[in-house]
Amino acid sequence: MSPSLTAKIAQVFDEPGCDINQAKGAKERKKGCTKQLTPGAAAGGCAFDGAKIALQPIVDVAHLVHGPIACEGNSWDNRHSASSGAQIYRTGFTTDINELDVIHGAEKRLFRAIREVIERQDPAAVFVYQTCVTGMIGDDIEAVCKRAAERFGRPVIPVNAPGFAGPKNLGNKLGAEALLDHVIGTVEPELTTPTDINIIGEYNLSGELWQVKPLLDALGVRVLSCISGDGRYRDIASAHRARANMMVCSKSMINVATRMRERWGIPYFEGSFYGIGDMSTTLREIARLLVERGAGADLIERAEALIAAEEARAWQRIRAYRERLAGKKVLLITGGVKSWSVVSALQEAGLEVVGTSVKKSTKEDKQKILEIMGEGADAHMIDELSPREMYAMLRDARADIMLSGGRSQFVALKARMPWMDINQERHHAFAGYEGMVTMVEQIDKALFNPVWQQVRAPAPWEVREVREVREAHDALLAQA
Ligand code: SF4
Repeated sequence: MSPSLTAKIAQVFDEPGCDINQAKGAKERKKGCTKQLTPGAAAGGCAFDGAKIALQPIVDVAHLVHGPIACEGNSWDNRHSASSGAQIYRTGFTTDINELDVIHGAEKRLFRAIREVIERQDPAAVFVYQTCVTGMIGDDIEAVCKRAAERFGRPVIPVNAPGFAGPKNLGNKLGAEALLDHVIGTVEPELTTPTDINIIGEYNLSGELWQVKPLLDALGVRVLSCISGDGRYRDIASAHRARANMMVCSKSMINVATRMRERWGIPYFEGSFYGIGDMSTTLREIARLLVERGAGADLIERAEALIAAEEARAWQRIRAYRERLAGKKVLLITGGVKSWSVVSALQEAGLEVVGTSVKKSTKEDKQKILEIMGEGADAHMIDELSPREMYAMLRDARADIMLSGGRSQFVALKARMPWMDINQERHHAFAGYEGMVTMVEQIDKALFNPVWQQVRAPAPWEVREVREVREAHDALLAQA
């Protein structure tokens, strides 16, 4: 690993916003939190993958992967991160290096690729992603990006997170470091208001940001930038002028929030858009922080009025579903989204959570689950659940439905039990009051789909066989 990358990883691990890290001694902290992965054996996503997931939702940027084509193939458009305009972020660009590049170096090829992308696509900026092979042959993407930016007069941002640096969540943070080093603070906004905020760690999956934005608009709160869902390069470059930051995804970009507080004094809080109660808490927190930072005090009153109206409307809309869902048992295996936040939303929908995975949850996340689920919550927190155990749980009807990522869906289908996608690849947006209604509707549709009765009933040929055996048996009895 290059000295600059080693130093960057050490910096990422020295995270003041992470309690686990702060509790460690200097020696342990130096070692970091994760084991280095073997190139090609990065199950669950490599650092490059993590950096690309974190940054690809910036929609007016060309995301150029410097490496063999398989790296881009692995990571291309694997989330439903939506755009309200530009579509260039969805095009896969790669230098597609070959054996000769490995021998001679691929920096020239990279430079030519940057030129081609700028000339043919005219993006707001080009983000260049380092991968294992180009990292190992020593291509200096920082130097190439600097030279290309000077030559073409366009921001060209190096994202130095090759796969072997570590797992996916380290890659999220290294991607965020690229923004901190080269993007945020480089452009002054044309206009600022006392109610400007940044939303950090929100990826606008299936358009979730758009379920929340109308609520902020109604309060007169302006989203100066979203990092990175439906993001624009210039907005993110001017994010340092916001009055407050909200961090959405559990710690995936906490370094952006803590570093912006250090550099520009922007306070941040961690909130959630999932569930009625958590959405209201988030609106209250945004109003409180902005008033502290100079917005008119009436913002708090307006927020309370909006919350009262929206909560009443949402409860009204989910009332009929709550009656049907009351007491139904859910097994929740989340990957990316905050499990505590989803647990609380499910409880609001009248469901009983019989198990929730906490493998990727932070210490605070687990504490929140304990608070939400109350006594006995420990028994329902699952660190690791093998597909065999998942299957047994569903087959024995200890849960009526499983909510998980796409990879586990076949376990539920094999057990002939309903399943709903709750992870990043989901096709429905579940944020805000509107999203809560959608989530409850989707759970109801999955649970009461008539297909379950049909797949659980014996097949027609099984029925025929049973009938034939019975008739033969009766005939034998009659003869006797
Ligand atoms: S960066 Fe490395 S680990 Fe990641 S996809 Fe490419 S080769 Fe695989």
